[in-house]
Amino acid sequence: MNMDISEIQTFDHDVVVIGAGGAGLRAAIECSAQGLNTGMICKSLLGKAHTVMAEGGAAASLGHTDERDNWKVHFRDTMRGGKFLNQWRMAELHAQHAADRIRELEEWGAVFDRTSDGYINQRPFGGHRYPRLAHTGDRTGLEIIRTLQDYGIHQGIHVHQECTALKLLKDSGKISGVFGYWRDTGRFVLFRTKAVIMATGGAGKIWRVTSNSWEYTGDGMEMAYSAGAELIDMEFAQFHPTGMIWPLSVRGILVTEGVRGEGGILLNSNNERFMFNYTPDRFKEETADSPEEAQRWLDGDASARRPPELLTRDVVAKSIMKEVEAGRGSAHGGAYLDIASRRDGEYIKRKLPSMYHQFKELAEVDITNERMEVGPTLHYMMGGIAVDGDTQMTAVPGLFACGECTGGMHGANRLGGNSLSDLLVFGWLAGKGAKDYVSQLSRPLQIDPEHVEEARREAVGPLNQEGGENPYLLHEELQNIMNDVNIVRTAAGLQRAIESLQELKPKLANIYAAGSSQYNPGWNQALSMRPMFVVAEAVARAALIREESRGAHTRLDFEGEREEWGNINIMICQNADGSMDTRKVDRNAPPDHLAEIAYSNLEDLEGGVHV
Ligand SMILES: Cc1cc2nc3c(=O)[nH]c(=O)nc-3n(C[C@H](O)[C@H](O)[C@H](O)COP(=O)(O)OP(=O)(O)OC[C@H]3O[C@@H](n4cnc5c(N)ncnc54)[C@H](O)[C@@H]3O)c2cc1C
Repeated sequence: MNMDISEIQTFDHDVVVIGAGGAGLRAAIECSAQGLNTGMICKSLLGKAHTVMAEGGAAASLGHTDERDNWKVHFRDTMRGGKFLNQWRMAELHAQHAADRIRELEEWGAVFDRTSDGYINQRPFGGHRYPRLAHTGDRTGLEIIRTLQDYGIHQGIHVHQECTALKLLKDSGKISGVFGYWRDTGRFVLFRTKAVIMATGGAGKIWRVTSNSWEYTGDGMEMAYSAGAELIDMEFAQFHPTGMIWPLSVRGILVTEGVRGEGGILLNSNNERFMFNYTPDRFKEETADSPEEAQRWLDGDASARRPPELLTRDVVAKSIMKEVEAGRGSAHGGAYLDIASRRDGEYIKRKLPSMYHQFKELAEVDITNERMEVGPTLHYMMGGIAVDGDTQMTAVPGLFACGECTGGMHGANRLGGNSLSDLLVFGWLAGKGAKDYVSQLSRPLQIDPEHVEEARREAVGPLNQEGGENPYLLHEELQNIMNDVNIVRTAAGLQRAIESLQELKPKLANIYAAGSSQYNPGWNQALSMRPMFVVAEAVARAALIREESRGAHTRLDFEGEREEWGNINIMICQNADGSMDTRKVDRNAPPDHLAEIAYSNLEDLEGGVHV
């Protein structure tokens, strides 16, 4: 029997932000500041988002630790780290505005670590030419979230916690609402709105070994895709080189790059500092070729080049894999990360307090005395919802997106620290974009009760079955399939993954959750399976199409970057029959001034103007 939609609890907002991590909060603050009635939905409690877990810091060319830094060098590093596949405009906006967004956070009360003369301190990180990450020990995300929350709740934002958004609703092609449910009571809820800003973060849970927590099932990417938006470059999923690998129960938990930024080195089972053997040609001019030079760089010698442990994440992750393949891996199949022999215990506890406690409590390892064991873990999605850089609007009128759920900004590989600054810059721009859009809407938008009923029917499907597929087992099957879409890939493996996903679809349609909708984790899990399937298929299909190895995407059957792919983005959207459409598009040529910066010599950029 159809439900009368007037029975569904309904809220009215000018704009609804889905997700309350850094991107969602920054977007909501901007919307509210612009006078919009702003609602924010989050799947878990406010403050529980990946942003809070960020450890290392936020990249911005403040130039406090090395005054040669400026937005142009940051832009150049980001493009090189992304293997030149980044959307030019996004990388430009990010580099130009990151410093102001960090200063703004400071004005709102964020407390960052300081240099001896009182400026925000900046730490070195992989792929960044100069120490660039504003940080608060290794709890930077916590400080950012705390600041945004404290500031945001005083801006009049309406927060709807433990509420999962399931579907976007449209009126004549334009966004007009969001359908969701309260996770505790299972009751449905409707948000009438003129615009939606998607800020739901990543999709790490489709892989088994991941630094991501339970919320990251690709919901925003799927909702946007199902509403008609495009996904871009989904093949680029970042494997962070250093996740915990032992004991098994904590496999995947992140070991911040800050450990290497503070001087930590990677060793194989022969105690060799192997990263000196893996510097790619592109980075040779910037990378130390001896331990002595690396040490001089850490000691602040401006003429020295940075240590090879701070090469980009794709390079370090693959180097560890190669050591393991060559039989020189650590006891449990990774590498050793040693900070104990490089820094004294007090320094480690002060700069890396979370790492100290994490290893002590979870692995009974004292990192001030012992080496850590680490290996690659799925960490971040470079691919995601395609947006216009300046406004953050997707192809669907009224649908905006920002943060990790979007794609394009980081190209084929994200530099560490660039996500936290990305959230701040693009959250801010998405808020502005939504305001401009809402201001020019000429008529009230409607919600079609039929669409609500359809969304409700889909949602209760797993509860109305007599029996069927266990959502947890289906999740495991999906993660098994993704072993073929892992850090290294082949055509045969990707083809197999795509076929297996197709074969599994009838099981997805037959998914079953016992019990009622109240307090039902099985049902919650069942509802997150469609997003995971969509994202998994998108990643596998895009990875099969890209016949080269670039950044985070490594094809054993197509080694190395291929020139013909250097300017190609892979776009994905939903066909009218529900199937997935993939197409290759030529990325716009860069404007001359950006091409010049991206391919320039460093000397030409140093000492430029700080913005
Ligand atoms: C352990 C760890 C350490 C990291 N360290 C760093 C670092 O040092 N520097 C750096 O730059 N980056 C770092 N990153 C990456 C960075 O933290 C994330 O990319 C970033 O925080 C993502 O922010 P976001 O706002 O896009 O999404 P998130 O912070 O992930 O927030 C997503 C929000 O969406 C909500 N949500 C999801 N689905 C739904 C739904 N269906 N309905 C309602 N709400 C939903 C979630 O509940 C959450 O509120 C780290 C990541 C991890 C996991």
